[in-house]
Parts: sequence; C-alpha cells; structure tokens
Amino acid sequence: MANKEMYTLGSQSSVIRELFSYGQEQAAKVGKENVFDFSIGNPTVPAPACIRESIAEIMATRESAAIHGYTAASGDTAVRQGLAQYMNDTYDAHVKADNFYMTCGAAASLTITLKAIVEAPEDEVLVIAPFFPEYTVFIENAGAHAVILPPDTEHFQISLENLEKAITPHTRAIIVNSPNNPAGTVYSADTYTKMADILTKKSAEIGHAIYLISDEPYREIIYDGLPILYVPKFYANTIVCYSYSKSLSLPGERIGYILVPDSVSDKDVYPAVCGAGRAMGFVCAPHLFQDVVLKCLGQTSDMNIYDENRKLLYNGLEEMGYDCVYPQGAFYLFVKSPEPDANAFSEKAKALNLLIVPADSFGCPGYVRISYCVEADMIKRSFPAFKKLIEQYT
Ligand code: PLP
Repeated sequence: MANKEMYTLGSQSSVIRELFSYGQEQAAKVGKENVFDFSIGNPTVPAPACIRESIAEIMATRESAAIHGYTAASGDTAVRQGLAQYMNDTYDAHVKADNFYMTCGAAASLTITLKAIVEAPEDEVLVIAPFFPEYTVFIENAGAHAVILPPDTEHFQISLENLEKAITPHTRAIIVNSPNNPAGTVYSADTYTKMADILTKKSAEIGHAIYLISDEPYREIIYDGLPILYVPKFYANTIVCYSYSKSLSLPGERIGYILVPDSVSDKDVYPAVCGAGRAMGFVCAPHLFQDVVLKCLGQTSDMNIYDENRKLLYNGLEEMGYDCVYPQGAFYLFVKSPEPDANAFSEKAKALNLLIVPADSFGCPGYVRISYCVEADMIKRSFPAFKKLIEQYT
C-alpha cells in the first residue's frame, strides 16, 4: 500500500504543468510559433557568463574529489564564509558562515525550515494570498495547517488588519514572498515595519515567537530602482529562504540556502534546520554549484530583458483594456479576468493558443497569471490573440 496523501500529490499534476504539457502537444500540431505559452516560470534569460567560466575553471584546475565529493552537511565552509561576507558587504547583515545552510533551491529551503520550526499538529502557518501553490503542500508535509489570508485585491500588499485577526495561539510562522509570485508586487519598508510591530506584539501575547519565513527566490528581480530590503533588519525572528534558480537562471541545478541570523531568539533554530536537513535527506547541496555560486556572488542574469518584457506586456495589455496589477518585481503579470470565473477565461484564451494560468490555485479566484520569462518576440506575436480574447467581452 502506498501513502494515500503522497499518491494524490504525485498523481495530480498542477494546473501550470497541465497547461505547459498542453502547449507542447499543441506546438507539435499547429507549429511552435502559433502557441503562446505564458504558463511556467522557467527563466529564459541565459545564466551570466561567469557560470560557464567558473564551471570551466573548476573542472580544469581541481581534483575530482574536490569537485564532486561530499561537502559538510550544511555546505562547504568557504562557500558559507563567502556568502556571509557578501551579505555583510551588501546589506550590512552581521552574519557568519554558521548562519547559513546550503540547500537544493527554495523548495528545499522552505521544507527544511518548516520542518525545523513546526512542533505540534495544531501549529498554523500563515500564507498571504495570492501565493505560490506549493506552500500548502510544504506546510502540510511539515505537519502543520496552512491558514490563508485573503488577498488585498486593491493593492496586492499585505492586509495588516487581516494578519492581526488571523494570528492565534497556534500560529508558528508566516511565509512572506516579495517580489511576489504571482502578483509581481514588492512589499515596502513601511509594510515590513508595520508587519513586524504586529508580529512582535502578537508573539508576546501568545507567549512564543512567530517566525517570518522570507521566501526570496526573486530578490534581485526588482524594477524601477526599488530597493532590495534585508528583512531581518525589520523583524528579528526572520528566517531567509533563498535560491539561485531565478537570479542566476539555474533552476535545474538546485542550489540555494537558508539564513538563520543571530537575531533569531531561539538559538535551537539553526541546529534544528541542520536536523531537518538531515532527517529529510537534504544534506550536502550540489557541491559543484556551491562552488560556482561562490565565484559568481553579486552577479545576476540580465534583468533588463525581463524589464523590457514587463513593459511590453503591461503596456500592450493595458492599452487593449485589460486590468493588470502593475508589476514591481519577479516576472509575472497578474491580470483581472474579465469574467468572474478565471478558469472559463483561461479556457477561452486556450482556444486562441494563449496559455495563461487561472489564479484559483494561488488563492486568488478571478485573476490569471501571465509569466513573461519568455521571448519578447513571442509577446509581440501574441498581441492579436490577446486582442481577439478581450473583444469577446466588449
Ligand atoms: N518560492 C516561490 C515563490 C517560487 O516561485 C518558486 C519557484 O517558482 C519556489 C519557491 C521554488 O524555487 P526553487 O526552484 O528554487 O526550488
């Protein structure tokens, strides 16, 4: 007998994956150039040159075991030292190697962190709609309950009033994702300050710390000169979950980290992260890519390409009459469905070979997500289909 919950998770594919597969089938029938696939968040901008160069240098100059052997369970010490130095220089973070645990990307960062802090079956973890759908899977896997804060469809910021109301004696953590998938919004310093006040007050009231899990795979994909904020500066009990999947276009290499700063009040959290990594078999993140990201600290893929796509798509769709959330970061445009049922809207789009994702699974019915990590040329070629689609509603 297989585990029923795992069977269900493994046999149901997500709406995004289904659309992506449909796109591939459709491309074989009608030609790749006639399918406009905006479904998935797979970075299209190439990894920066330093990735290829670092790999070549490492391969040419090191012995096999120094390339492919195990590192320490938490990651190579020199890598973690380099990371600490970089975070100190860039964000004045006051961290050291032993605040970092190297992981296989943000998904591992999140599952390990949740496992490390969830204690009892009644524990609750707050997520703010719209949210990355895997959060509920990760939270339930850690043995806690996901509590969903309804979306603030006016500004797509965090409704602080709803946050305060949602906190109970069982609240263990809140997951915050900025720049946000799917809304493309970025939380301001003011939002973090106010959120920190609420979390501090409520932690005192309920008698234990509420952790802020800052999920930051899009940290550097930010536009209009907005500042990148170091979240532990606003709230001491912050645990940062990072990934190089998007910033360096390396999603297939599975590399990221967890940062537990010294400001986290319970000194058992970092050892618990190490324990959770061990229990879940996530020790020793890919060695070669630990060394590669060390050599590429501070580099990113060319963010101007995403910025140009963003402007092209946002301006193009607004002009046609679509109601779009102005994207400040990440590479997603969030659009209000012109009919209440975003699934029906997405089906009409599909009939025009436009693949856009209804946001019900992101906790935000009535909206769709359009991923613009695609070729600019495809965005331009898709405009007649977007026009035909909106004309069905006017
Ligand atoms: N968190 C968010 C908000 C994401 O959008 C993603 C991937 O798209 C992840 C986490 C998982 O990232 P990774 O591929 O690094 O595991």
